[in-house]
Amino acid sequence: MNYQNSYVRLDPRLYHRQPPTPLDNPKAGHFNSAVAARLEWDKDETLMARWVEILGGQYVPEDFSPLSMAYAGHQFGQWAGQLGDGRGLLMAQVLDNTGKLQDLHLKGSGLTPYSRMGDGRAVLRSTIREYLCGHALNNVGIASSDALGFVVSETPVRRERMEQGAALMRVADCHIRLGHIEWIASFAPDLLAEFTDYMIDTYYPECRQAANPVAEFLTQVVTRTAHMIADWQLIGFAHGVMNTDNLSITGSTLDFGPFGFMERFNPSWINNHSDHTGRYSYQNQPAIGHWNMNVWLPHFMRLPNIDRSTLADCLEPYETAFMTRYQQGLCRKLGLPFSRDSMVLAFEWLTLMEDYNLDYTNSFRALIGLIYKELLADQTASDSYAHEQQLLQILLAELNTAGTEATTEWQGWQTRYLNAIKAASTAEAPVPSLTEIVESMATANPVYILRNGMAQTAIEQATSGDFAEVDRLYQLLSSPYQVQPIATPADTQPPAPDAPMLPISCSS
Ligand code: AMP
Ligand code: MG
Repeated sequence: MNYQNSYVRLDPRLYHRQPPTPLDNPKAGHFNSAVAARLEWDKDETLMARWVEILGGQYVPEDFSPLSMAYAGHQFGQWAGQLGDGRGLLMAQVLDNTGKLQDLHLKGSGLTPYSRMGDGRAVLRSTIREYLCGHALNNVGIASSDALGFVVSETPVRRERMEQGAALMRVADCHIRLGHIEWIASFAPDLLAEFTDYMIDTYYPECRQAANPVAEFLTQVVTRTAHMIADWQLIGFAHGVMNTDNLSITGSTLDFGPFGFMERFNPSWINNHSDHTGRYSYQNQPAIGHWNMNVWLPHFMRLPNIDRSTLADCLEPYETAFMTRYQQGLCRKLGLPFSRDSMVLAFEWLTLMEDYNLDYTNSFRALIGLIYKELLADQTASDSYAHEQQLLQILLAELNTAGTEATTEWQGWQTRYLNAIKAASTAEAPVPSLTEIVESMATANPVYILRNGMAQTAIEQATSGDFAEVDRLYQLLSSPYQVQPIATPADTQPPAPDAPMLPISCSS
């Protein structure tokens, strides 16, 4: 691998150098060969042969330089003081095969000076959820950490009950969180200028061209964060713990705990059972992103050429960046041009899904079945879009069960929607053909997301030593936009409308 360990050259107050604490008898859980190829991990025989030992903390390759990072943060809206890597280590930084910097971070690697009351470990259950979620987000096209693989061990870890200790080698473009700056501001303010230079030079070098590089950097962080959250909303992802210590400065999804993917559409859905007020509900995410930026930006006022009005200018693009990305994305999901009329249809559609408790992912995908059935069927082979036609039948059956008001609303909406699709495909040149519209919708609406129930089944099997279901989900989520023969009905099945939610808490 092309090692580029640069964090370890920063001021030693920012981290603690230490090796991992080995797990007992680690065993392979899953290995991500696509990530291994991207990192060029697979070109090194020792790394390939000893990956289980490396993830188990038993062997540290010479070129690694493990350290735990200090950071702080606001948790659930309150200042939490010093936090830091309490159970993870930055093991190495490398350039991947596209020349991009990647951090290898081992999560579950034992105690550090920042462990506070914790045991430094991660359990198998949360490790599998993080492994599959990072993979799912990357493959739907959302900026996110991924992982090289994970191991399970005989080290017992106490949560609500005893569980198996596990460790995941997270791969992320950056592990600097908003909370790093909060730590510096509180505990080492003299480092702010140097650390800001490091962030710009390492992650935002293009900002050096701007008249005020720091202001440009801050604006870019604000914009990227807004884009990431818009992408979450579009796919129906709820992070669950958007504390400032869990948000990366690169606008890439980090730190998976009580996350979830939307099933039956409910904007006020709270996936995290420990989030009693719903601060991090699905619909609050955009506002929380703004809140986080608002507590983060003022720390930079200590730097020259940054005053209150500069910071206001940096924050200002947040809302437009979010809205534009979200609204354009909704139109793309519907196969419509980005316009005011399309947005009216989009919000009517969201309301319909909410009112009748429809599955978010399946309902969007069912629209492909609708266009096919109503506008394309006589031009194309009859088995085209069979999965989408079936989703449409399920959707129609659910609306039927909901009653005449539901079917009347649907009738009205689908007529207006199909007219808009027809108009989009017959407007003045160059216009997309109906087939092109449907093909493009199929790349904006995944068939598969990681439903909580899917992860749960894989976890239960893995707990008894069988990782085949983890592997199947890994394969399935590698191509989430394609209908696949390895899928089972449960992969596209939302819970019954009145089913209790699986309890997903912060315990991990
Ligand atoms: P999280 O809610 O997972 O983002 O964690 C918040 C903080 O608690 C971070 O500083 C973590 O490193 C720390 N933490 C979480 N779980 C543990 C644990 N089992 N042992 C030590 N530190 C932990
Ligand atoms: Mg965290």
